[in-house]
Amino acid sequence: MARRSALARLHLLGPLLVLAALSFPALAQTQLDDHLKAISWPVYQDQTVRLMREYLRIDTSNPPGNELAAAEFFHRLFDEAGISNTIYPYAPGRANIWAVIKGDGTLRPLVLLNHMDVVQADARNWRLPPFSGEILNGEMYGRGAEDMKDEGLLQAMVMVIAARQHLPLKRDLVFLGTSDEEVNGTGSAWMLENHPETVRNAEFLITEGGSNLITRGRGTIYAVGVGEKAPFWLRLTATGRGGHGSIPIADSAPIRLVKALARVVNWETPIHLLPSVEQYFRAIASLEPKARAAQFRNIQKALQDPAFVRSISRDEEYNYLLRNTVSLTVLQGASQTNVIPDIAYADLDVRLLPGEDPKAFLGQLRAVLGDDSIRITSAGRFKPPNSSSTDTSLYRLIEQVVHEYNPQAIVAPALVSGYTESQLYRPLGITCYGFNTLEVTPEVNATEHAANERVPLEQLRRGVKVFYELVARAANQ
Ligand SMILES: [Zn+2]
Repeated sequence: MARRSALARLHLLGPLLVLAALSFPALAQTQLDDHLKAISWPVYQDQTVRLMREYLRIDTSNPPGNELAAAEFFHRLFDEAGISNTIYPYAPGRANIWAVIKGDGTLRPLVLLNHMDVVQADARNWRLPPFSGEILNGEMYGRGAEDMKDEGLLQAMVMVIAARQHLPLKRDLVFLGTSDEEVNGTGSAWMLENHPETVRNAEFLITEGGSNLITRGRGTIYAVGVGEKAPFWLRLTATGRGGHGSIPIADSAPIRLVKALARVVNWETPIHLLPSVEQYFRAIASLEPKARAAQFRNIQKALQDPAFVRSISRDEEYNYLLRNTVSLTVLQGASQTNVIPDIAYADLDVRLLPGEDPKAFLGQLRAVLGDDSIRITSAGRFKPPNSSSTDTSLYRLIEQVVHEYNPQAIVAPALVSGYTESQLYRPLGITCYGFNTLEVTPEVNATEHAANERVPLEQLRRGVKVFYELVARAANQ
């Protein structure tokens, strides 16, 4: 879109200058257009559906994972296409796979990252067996069909098509399939510790964390993941004198804990508007009724109005985008009704915005608790939250390619509420986006981590083409 407006401006200066200024990029563009037009899509689309079925039949439920079988599946596929690839086993049954197609080196590498493990599935709740890849009403069923064997397979197909069609590349195209994302993240962690050279100097990375939801009557919203909130799990522990429940103790551990928790749950953490969140509200404004649309278009101003702050804070869909959040999740006191315990604790699922300082947050929390005798300890590992800018050639290209296939779609940067592995790769200087090309209804989207996870076949067929075009263009600009 930026390119088009630059072109319009050049026209004012006369046709000769336009020709001189555009001849080189125009040539490269035409070559790429010709390359894309020459591809016989039905062959690759059929292959995508066939391989998706095979991939879903490999049981990589984590635990235990057994991702080595999935790595071997990709290894065979890449070998057949003449793509250089390596399996990195790192524990019994567990492995990552890395593949590369070399570019001419004028631009830095693009990484396609996917995890090969899936969460477990209880077959009793499924319409079709979760590791069958069976098809019903045009949808393919299988654990991982949404998270994220679909995207992993599309990424592999992009590599295969690039190799078979001899895609000209200015960047190396890197495929990285990892293990154990769903449980401990040992796959990516091992890779970055032992083989950081596999992603060294990469400029861009595409992985999960994007979703393209078909809304009723309002078109499709392409949410491109640009950052995640970081889990900062805390345990609050109160200790005191225990005793028999028949003789109340006014300052017992559970009573002091509950009083402090009441202050915490009533606490409204300060609002902090991130640039990407501001951009998100602007992008989705047109979906809202008129008055709210105007507020979303200028959310900075709207947030100065206490009434708007109250209403947006009550909206679960938007509230978490604007502040650090605190959810009270675990409560533990005695295990018997007539026992006053000498210890009581509660866990808080705190999620911090990118750029936040955990120490500063702890200071605020301590003040809100108002009881210094309550101990605060960590209840999980903490990784600092981070995010990527939308002011990049890849982000603009995503907008361009999405609109080419779906002119009405809204593309918006998303702050993801959950964790993705992008967090591990951004500190290496890589711009990471959560993006895929499948459009799904809310019903299908809700099957992620749930029963009857499935992917519509027509979306697989469409998705592979869109993904390939995005990567082909990204690899050349
Ligand atoms: Zn996932």
